[in-house]
Amino acid sequence: MRTDSVKTKGRVLLLCGDPTGLQKQFQGEDLPLEQVRLRDYVSVDEIAPGWVCYYFGQRLEDFPYLGLLCDGAFPVHEGFVRRGGFEVAVSGKRHGIGSPREAGPYAERASGIRIVIAESFDPGYRLYCHSLGLLTSTDMTLVDRIRGGEAVPMAAFTEGLDPLTAEIVAAGGIFDFTRARLEGAAVIPVTRREPAPMTYGEKILARAARDGAGLGLPSVAPGDGLLVKADWRFSHETVTPLAVAMLRKGLGEGIPFADPASILAFRDHLTFMGRFYTQDEGQPGLMEVARRIKKLQEEFCAANAIRLHGDVSEGGCEGICHVLMAERYALPGQVIVGTDSHTSHSGALGALAFGVGAADIASAWVTGDVRITVPPTILVRLDGQLGPGVCAKDLVLHLLTLPFFRDGHVRGHIIEYAGEALGALQIDERATLTNMAADFGAFAGVMAPDAETVRFVEERRGARIALEPWMASDPAAVYAGRLVVDCGKVVPMVASPGFAGNGLPLDSLEEEIPVDIAYVGSCTGAKRADLQKVYDVVRWGLDRGLTVPLRVQFFIQLGSEDVRAHAEAQGWLAAFEEAGARILGPGCGACINAGPGVSTRADQVTISAINRNNPGRSGPGKVWLASPATVAASALRGAICGFGALAGTH
Ligand code: SF4
Repeated sequence: MRTDSVKTKGRVLLLCGDPTGLQKQFQGEDLPLEQVRLRDYVSVDEIAPGWVCYYFGQRLEDFPYLGLLCDGAFPVHEGFVRRGGFEVAVSGKRHGIGSPREAGPYAERASGIRIVIAESFDPGYRLYCHSLGLLTSTDMTLVDRIRGGEAVPMAAFTEGLDPLTAEIVAAGGIFDFTRARLEGAAVIPVTRREPAPMTYGEKILARAARDGAGLGLPSVAPGDGLLVKADWRFSHETVTPLAVAMLRKGLGEGIPFADPASILAFRDHLTFMGRFYTQDEGQPGLMEVARRIKKLQEEFCAANAIRLHGDVSEGGCEGICHVLMAERYALPGQVIVGTDSHTSHSGALGALAFGVGAADIASAWVTGDVRITVPPTILVRLDGQLGPGVCAKDLVLHLLTLPFFRDGHVRGHIIEYAGEALGALQIDERATLTNMAADFGAFAGVMAPDAETVRFVEERRGARIALEPWMASDPAAVYAGRLVVDCGKVVPMVASPGFAGNGLPLDSLEEEIPVDIAYVGSCTGAKRADLQKVYDVVRWGLDRGLTVPLRVQFFIQLGSEDVRAHAEAQGWLAAFEEAGARILGPGCGACINAGPGVSTRADQVTISAINRNNPGRSGPGKVWLASPATVAASALRGAICGFGALAGTH
């Protein structure tokens, strides 16, 4: 319900670095703010450890801060926050840092916390709070004012927000706002501007923006709050159940969905989990949760006439969500939202595609719209041409080493790619660029459609599309920054273990690094064009009698069933098997430590075509990132090397 001020009756939990201080608070003592050392950098993983993401509904209320590390101890246990009757949590600098994960603020809110006060916040965390109705403020004086019984004006929690987001926060979050909308009682502020030059991404948003009952605004600019009609709304199985639980709690049962034909669901992340884990590992009950997730997603999709791309009898799933979205659904000029940070993959087709959380997708199921604050746009001009043997993955790993990207300057921005080198790249290659915009911390990656876009859609879907004159940035569009990259200078790259930004030229490796596992797969590395490059290397090797050494496990996991059919028809799969590779059906698998291809020991070394190598993401070993061709060459050599180096020694 919309409110102008907030008064709490509950207690204030100070997230201090001293475990004794926390224990005292859980035992009923309230500590003065000036006497505690607040924890800085409370990460999303500390608010909600990774395994919490597999839970949804009631139990999350007992989970906040289970990973909070205080002087080497984990003083928060299940149910402590809820049973303590806390309504306010207080933290130091950068509360909510790390890979955005909605389960964190959702667990806080579910436990009874209504307000989080911190010296500063991670922007991604705060975005989720806006939708979840979790109020945030950086005004530390609020602690004593709240304890003194003061009703705090809502303006203290909406300062600096665009008018639409402020309205959603004041309404109590996206579900209360949506309910008011359905009842015709919502206030929907619209910023109307005179026509002005826009970037391509801004044009897409302006055309899809709600203006009262109609669609389209003459112009939008960074910072504008919009409700935007989405052409496609999708979720995968690790988020669908949480979204369903939130929807039921927020709006009740039986709410009809807007245009169910444009809602999609994917079961791709946990496809191989049952075959991979023979028993609960890491977290008791996890396998049972995974089974419940599958059942709930299937029942939900059946009950709401939602198309579910799930398991196939050949093994694996129909396709990784991003690969299938590009192959079958995305079109130029569309708005696409999905519950995954790499949703921007479809930007390669000229769609504005971006990730949203469970609350926003659930609300979008009902209304057909998503809310957005228009991000600023950065233009990345790709001059020249990539050299022989250099591909989009090498380019991304190179970009990630540049301070402009590595130091977070593009965080929350739209990255618009343009330039001569782009014209020479196939859509599958372009999708590696837009997909990994997420790894720059960007909001989305996009590029204007061209003849290659038309060719791709015709090749993959048998449909001829027409591009429209508006589908490009205006010459006088305003960018927040511009970067020119000389693609002729980009060389084959690898990223050393721990971070995708640890890129270095392949030929700068000073010593040979033997590999135990070589993995071609994921939304970044298992598209048709990726496997073509893998085939080129493998064929070259087979023609010279080269196969994968017995001590190396070489996995090739297909991006989709469409990729499988093509690879089979081309004879690629037979060649891969002849070389000693193990072919896996589509699915995320090794990319999220839930399928064959992950390491099982810390001393193992993997060379992988996936997009992230954060510690633990693909098992306990060390993961080097590389292009699919480099992974294939390394598999044949048994040590990290590029195709050029391999060819040079045979
Ligand atoms: S393949 Fe990896 S990055 Fe891509 S959607 Fe699956 S888990 Fe995410």
